[in-house]
Amino acid sequence: MKRYQLLIDGAWSDPSSGKWTPNINPANTEDVIGEFASAGEDDVKAAIEAAHRAFPAWRAMPMVNRGNILHKAANLLEARVEEVAQAMTREEGKTLIEARGETARGVAILRYFAGEASQPDGEVYPTALPNRMLYTRREPVGVIGLITPWNFPVAIPLWKLAPALVYGNTVVFKPAELTPLTAWHIADVLHQAGLPKGVLNLTLGSGRVVGNAMVANHDVKAISFTGSNTVGRDIQRKLQERGAKVQLEMGGKNPVIVLDDANLNIAVEMVTRGAMKSTGQKCTATSRVFVQEGIYKQFSQALVEKAKSLSIGDGMNPDTYMGPAVSRSQQETVLEYLEIGQREGAKVGAGGAALVGDGYGKGFYVPPTVFLDAEINSRLMQEEIFGPVVALAPISTLEKGIEAANSVQYGLSASIISQNIGSIMRFIDGIQAGLVHVNDETAGAEPHVPFGGFKESSSHSREQGKSAREFYTQIKTVYLDYPT
Ligand code: NAD
Repeated sequence: MKRYQLLIDGAWSDPSSGKWTPNINPANTEDVIGEFASAGEDDVKAAIEAAHRAFPAWRAMPMVNRGNILHKAANLLEARVEEVAQAMTREEGKTLIEARGETARGVAILRYFAGEASQPDGEVYPTALPNRMLYTRREPVGVIGLITPWNFPVAIPLWKLAPALVYGNTVVFKPAELTPLTAWHIADVLHQAGLPKGVLNLTLGSGRVVGNAMVANHDVKAISFTGSNTVGRDIQRKLQERGAKVQLEMGGKNPVIVLDDANLNIAVEMVTRGAMKSTGQKCTATSRVFVQEGIYKQFSQALVEKAKSLSIGDGMNPDTYMGPAVSRSQQETVLEYLEIGQREGAKVGAGGAALVGDGYGKGFYVPPTVFLDAEINSRLMQEEIFGPVVALAPISTLEKGIEAANSVQYGLSASIISQNIGSIMRFIDGIQAGLVHVNDETAGAEPHVPFGGFKESSSHSREQGKSAREFYTQIKTVYLDYPT
């Protein structure tokens, strides 16, 4: 069985804990992908010390040179897209076509931030005094901890790593336990692209051990976290207590409003994609649909039919639309919500019960489920499920739809399906979401624009594009009175 090590101070190394964890294919639990190092506290400490030592020289390297290393990493990853995509499908379960798309997006993210190396990194201001130059410059923050989830195991780590590195920070990267192989590839690609030792350290292992050790260490000056609200808020409290910088991207309960004038085919297609692609395991997945009364029946029937027609299976199979849930615990959560929804009185249109037969027992498969006539305040409509489950409710007007859509703690993404520009603009004005789509699915993000949510979905900061600079740099304002 192949073993995958930690990357600490520029060298691949065994874990001091002596612990190795098998990585299981969620489509077929008999397929063990490899054994992965489980870092102990000593490894995390060594990784942070290495990053701390590497920081002065890395920060002093001209930004353009740092960008060149990212360019090289982009080329290396591009040459490896198929290998990385297959690794992703095998350990996370999403379809190969989605995994290829995500890896290609990873290449685009690296290229975007490589390009940022030649952008201005400060501003010159007018001043009230003569013989003075007044300007700002951006400087790196220091050692940054990156904690990432399993659902976008290439895109999310890279949209944190690329800006962290290009702006001159050094990194300790702690990926999710369930997707260590894709994380290993990312670290390997950056390592091979020529990062100096200690600039990037990969600490595979459990959230409790590795995550806690990073959170507690005062040499870690900032942490960027994507994952669940419970873990995120806990990290935020601890970091704020010691005055460190923190950025959180967390859950969603994303709505779509379908108005009477919607193109029915577009509405069904976009809701299906948003709810079922990646097995609903996207923070931006569609989970609530508010449908105007005039089109409710027609839309529900068409959506139910579509959900029933989806092919479920191993993501490696080109005919598969939806792969398995990522883990047994995720599968159990989804099945539990199917019961909760029915107990609360929502009607099952499609799915609703565990899948049986056809090899489903070998993996963590879950049924694409459509609930009808759900109560807006029910748990089904309020809590993040992170599975292929969508709940529908009728609305009389757009205003009622916006009110229902906003009636959750989250505010990540939202969409409207309509042909009326007035309704669309009123929706854009009134919806509480960081990402708004029109005649589109709720998921999907381009790499060069801000990404993040309102309300409990984030820490009110944004990732990606120019926004990434705010977290990964700090501003120095310089008052330079020159000799005359
Ligand atoms: P999670 O919170 O369980 O884990 C996320 C990461 O935190 C993992 O690397 C995990 O090992 C680590 N971790 C766990 N306990 C920790 C601790 N005590 N200290 C430090 N680190 C710890 O989340 P998950 O199950 O991996 O991901 C699913 C969640 O992520 C969903 O809620 C989803 O909405 C959210 N998500 C949000 C976005 C976004 O951009 N808003 C994107 C993807 C996923």
